[in-house]
Amino acid sequence: MTTDPRIELQQASLRVTRPRLAVLEVLGDEPHLDTDTIIGRVREKHGSVSHQAVYDVLRALTSAGLVRRIQPAGSNARYEARVGDNHHHAVCRSCGDIVDVECAVGHAPCLTAPGGHGFVVDEAEVVYWGTCSACAALAT
Ligand SMILES: [Zn+2]
Ligand SMILES: [Zn+2]
Repeated sequence: MTTDPRIELQQASLRVTRPRLAVLEVLGDEPHLDTDTIIGRVREKHGSVSHQAVYDVLRALTSAGLVRRIQPAGSNARYEARVGDNHHHAVCRSCGDIVDVECAVGHAPCLTAPGGHGFVVDEAEVVYWGTCSACAALAT
């Protein structure tokens, strides 16, 4: 996935700005980063950017669908640039590491809510909880 962030922004009808490009670039390098880490990386590469600017960028990119926000229970919100493929996440209970898990069935699971209730479902989230290989190795 080497989409040009400029083109992504234009296709989403978002103005191309330096902070937006910087955040997309950071998330393109590494997925599942929390806000503080993103701010740190953006500053390393692009100098001073305010917390508020990064928060605003994350909100804009998330609502435009260019960035996906995930928040496993008990964890900070994490962001990733891999969107639209319905992949899932496995979260380590011990170190909080998050890894991508390919979609098991090839389409969003259980999107037809049982029994109606007039509820329109647009997403069903699957999170696998367990122990990552590094933590499992430490435990033995
Ligand atoms: Zn772990
Ligand atoms: Zn992911």
